[in-house]
Amino acid sequence: MSDIEKVKCLIIGSGPAGYTAAIYAARANMKPVLYQGLQPGGQLTTTNDVENFPGYPDGITGPEMMIQLMNQAKRFDTDVRDGWVSKVDFSGPVHKVWVDEKKEIHADTIIISTGASARYLGLPSEQKYLALGGGVSACAVCDGFFYREQEVVIVGAGDSACEEAGYLANICKKVTMLVRKNEFRASVIMEERVKSIENIEIKFNTEIDEVLGDGAVVTGVRTINNKTKETEEIAATGVFIAIGHIPNTQIFKDYLELDATGYIINQPGSSKTNVEGVFVSGDAADHVYRQAITAAGTGCMAALDAERYLAAKGH
Ligand code: NDP
Repeated sequence: MSDIEKVKCLIIGSGPAGYTAAIYAARANMKPVLYQGLQPGGQLTTTNDVENFPGYPDGITGPEMMIQLMNQAKRFDTDVRDGWVSKVDFSGPVHKVWVDEKKEIHADTIIISTGASARYLGLPSEQKYLALGGGVSACAVCDGFFYREQEVVIVGAGDSACEEAGYLANICKKVTMLVRKNEFRASVIMEERVKSIENIEIKFNTEIDEVLGDGAVVTGVRTINNKTKETEEIAATGVFIAIGHIPNTQIFKDYLELDATGYIINQPGSSKTNVEGVFVSGDAADHVYRQAITAAGTGCMAALDAERYLAAKGH
């Protein structure tokens, strides 16, 4: 028992949501402890240039931005720690959390900012150019601008893929959309919209066999028709993967209300979950916007909600 640490505000996750929550919580004297998780800095650490976060007129790389956010949180004495929250117990009045399956923490308030992970195809060539920042992306709104007036490929047939294909079609010369079945999964209205856009070509029953490149940047894809087994090479400088996201919320499933995909359900207009004193921010609860700036905004909301919760309890 003596090893149990008690904290006022525990923040789980180190993306823009977590660090913004930390900045607000620390400045409200809540002495936040933040655990960075398995991917310190979150999804932005796999992004090259961030040009759409207000306040950076010349842009900034994702990893640099996350270091700045971390330093800002530390400046107000956020206790930023390495470690991965492996288990929680929100069944009683005390919120219990275990870090790295060992250390036990009891927290008055918890802010969940565990984010979501983009799904990828898993091809070695895809992962290679993703790691190189050479033309593979899972976010059209983040990276589409870098491919203006160029030809790109997008994979997927859900609402996200349709939305992102439409976004890219506005910027790029041509968008080739690869759909693995002979039908869309997206809502009819989104499907119709994509089909009506002139510079989008849709290829059904088509999957990427290999992402092609010159060793540094993407030059195209080789596709295979899964019915006829015919292969084709399509020239493209950008390959956008829009096959869904996996919210990092598994450890909360026994206590928090999740939607069918696993996103935490927050009370509309607030960061409150169904458990008092447990708040959510960022992509763990957002399958619609998924932007650094919206994550930061909801991180702020979570810290303010946590502060008000503590004040109402007389802490
Ligand atoms: P979805 O899970 O709805 O769709 C994923 C798509 O990716 C499917 O078409 C699936 O194909 C395809 N896919 C999965 N794996 C592969 C693979 N290995 N190779 C090729 N294709 C693959 O994810 P979304 O991100 O599109 O949407 C998530 C949720 O968010 C949905 O509920 C959606 O309605 C919602 N949303 C709503 C929006 C809006 O209303 N404006 C905007 C964006 C999302 P298959 O069909 O063959 O399984």
